[in-house]
Amino acid sequence: MTYPIHILTLFPEYFDSPLSESIIKRAVAADLVDFTITNIRDFATDKHKTADDVPYGGGAGMVMKAEPLVAALEAAKAVADVPRIYLTPQGEPLTQALAQELSEGPGMILTCGHYEGVDQRVRDGWIDREVSIGDFVLTGGEPAALILLDSVVRLLPGVLGNAESIEDESFQTPMLEYPHYTRPREFRGMSVPDVLVSGHHAKIDEWRREQSLKRTQERRPDLLDEDS
Ligand code: SAM
Repeated sequence: MTYPIHILTLFPEYFDSPLSESIIKRAVAADLVDFTITNIRDFATDKHKTADDVPYGGGAGMVMKAEPLVAALEAAKAVADVPRIYLTPQGEPLTQALAQELSEGPGMILTCGHYEGVDQRVRDGWIDREVSIGDFVLTGGEPAALILLDSVVRLLPGVLGNAESIEDESFQTPMLEYPHYTRPREFRGMSVPDVLVSGHHAKIDEWRREQSLKRTQERRPDLLDEDS
């Protein structure tokens, strides 16, 4: 099954490199995911291809116009009737659980805002879900869309090989992952913990569980709070 991701943006070239590198490139080549990038401006009907305008009520900045964006959203939905997501700092926070949920869905249409954002009527009538990648404000939705899609694509069945197992990863369980080491065994006076070179798998598993717990208690005790 190919998972369709349709991105609506004013800056289509932004996605050229990130979607043609590493694991995402492999997933595309294996037909596990399919990307369509649409320039919202292509749906503007005036001769200047206007996609933004001044805000009603005055104030700084521009607002993305409804007509071209809604036309782009309707065209995307006609191709694949999948959830339409608007990236916005006002959306529900992106978490591993949300990435998992979206990876189990039929695909997604991602709308990247710019300037002050999009006309509220688009959000009210043509967006199913709003997602934020964190409590900070970016210039545009493109980096947010990339972060969201990366977190989803790597969870699609078949995308990661066994060597890149996600089982122990941070947030898969409510814990951060244990520390990793690779060769050389000694580096500038710092050694790899003896247990990791002991060959004793049960002891290694136990050490990793302890380290996970310690790291989570130190850095993210909120993850261990059952109410959170
Ligand atoms: N005026 C908006 C506000 O205060 O909520 C912020 C607009 S921001 C400058 C421009 C665009 O960047 C937004 O429309 C959105 O698509 C994207 N964006 C900015 N921060 C984001 C975040 N934390 N998560 C997701 N998208 C974000």
